[in-house]
Formats: sequence, structure tokens, C-alpha cells
Amino acid sequence: MNLWQEQSISQPPILTLRSAQKAWDIPIVDQHYQTLLDASSQAERARLVAVSAKDSGSWLNALPLSVLGNLPEDNSFRISAGLRLGARLCEPHVCRCKKLVDELGRHGLSCQLSAGRHSRHSALNDSLHRALISCKVPNVLEPNGILRDDQKRPDGLTLIPWQQGKALVRDVTCVDTVAETYLRGPAWRLGYAANKAEELKRHKYRELDGRYLFCPVAFETFGTFRNEASSLIQQIGKRIAEATGETRSLSLNSGLIFD
Ligand SMILES: [Zn+2]
Repeated sequence: MNLWQEQSISQPPILTLRSAQKAWDIPIVDQHYQTLLDASSQAERARLVAVSAKDSGSWLNALPLSVLGNLPEDNSFRISAGLRLGARLCEPHVCRCKKLVDELGRHGLSCQLSAGRHSRHSALNDSLHRALISCKVPNVLEPNGILRDDQKRPDGLTLIPWQQGKALVRDVTCVDTVAETYLRGPAWRLGYAANKAEELKRHKYRELDGRYLFCPVAFETFGTFRNEASSLIQQIGKRIAEATGETRSLSLNSGLIFD
């Protein structure tokens, strides 16, 4: 008890909880986490908060099957894991856009010239497309003609009603947790970038209100996804579980996302 109190600023757990190891561990772990956050820069704090969210590491539990596209090649895995850990990923150099890329290599996640932004977007959209097919909901990518403004074309539309007799329209995006724009705001708040992106999408497609159910699906580069994306994934997971009898469809988000 004395040793524990030397390390902790909390009170010891109440008697009935004392047999649980986690009742002793959590206060000290939380304390270390808070100390780490307090001593970190804005970008590091945003990374720590994002990678500490439960779902942001779901991809690490996905079965590494190449047929499902779940088997990243070595360098992709090195970069993905290194980004989570805040590890050094490359030698500092100047990007094609003339900005400096530091040793953490995060610039590429938000660089306007990076091809990765498009592939992340299509991978995410394609995963949702296939997940909806798995729960027997036919859907099309980039539907034409549902908005008067042809410049705005959402990423997907279900061909049958999703809820309340309305078809589901989705628009996906993958925003960078540590992009400068978001770091100027309270980026330490979990899912700040994703929530901001969802708000913007909802505004952009406000014209759909009433005719369709619109769902913005925003993911962050550090794996976080928030309100609306999370609730859609829960719903899809539940429907896949009902359609296939595979109860893990819901518990393993990674199975759904990367399926
Ligand atoms: Zn660049």
C-alpha cells in the first residue's frame, strides 16, 4: 500500500474493488498519461489522444489476409505503426510542394500533392460499399443526378431504403489528425478533425435533407472516427451480424472496415 501511494496521487480503491488489478493500475496509468500529455506539443498531444481511443487501433486486430486487402506490405506497416508511435520515419527532406518534411514524416498525410489522399478516400469508400453488400443492401458509388448542383456528387447511395423509408447517401473523407488547420483548433480533443469534417459535409449536402438520409463518414489518419461514422458502422455491423449470423461483425470493427 505504501509503495502504491508513493506513485499515486489518487486514493486507494474502495475495499470491494481491491482484488481487481485494474483498480490499482488505472489511476497510475492515467496519471502517467496526463503527465505525458502535459509535456507534449500540440501535434504530439493530438497523436496521443487519437491513438489512445479504443477504435483507432482496430486495424491492428484485422486478420492479415491479402485476399481481403488486409495485408499491408512491410513499408506500409512500418509507416502505419510508426505514425501511431510517433517514431522517426524518414530523413528530413523537402517535399515537391516545397514544404519541409521532418523526420516524423507526417507532412505526406495532408500534402496537397500527395497521391495517398485519393487512395485513402477510395479505400474507405470501397470498404463501406462492400460492407453494405455484405448486409444485403445494394448500393452504387458516386451516384449521378441526386443533386441539382453537378459539382457535388456524394460517394455512395443505397438503392433500397436504409431507414424511415429513405435511401442512405454517404460521403466519406479521411482528414489528417495533425494537419496544421486542425492543430490551430483544440486538436487535443478526441476526434476534433473528424467531427469538423462531418459538420462541413453535412452543411455541403444540406439540400438532401428530407429526401434522403445523409451520413457523413469522416475518418482521421490516426485511425479515429467519430459520431456519425461510428454510428453508421455500428448499424452496418449489426445488419451484417443479422444477415450472416457472424456476431463478430459488430465487435470487430476492423473486420468490417477492412472486410
Ligand atoms: Zn508536400
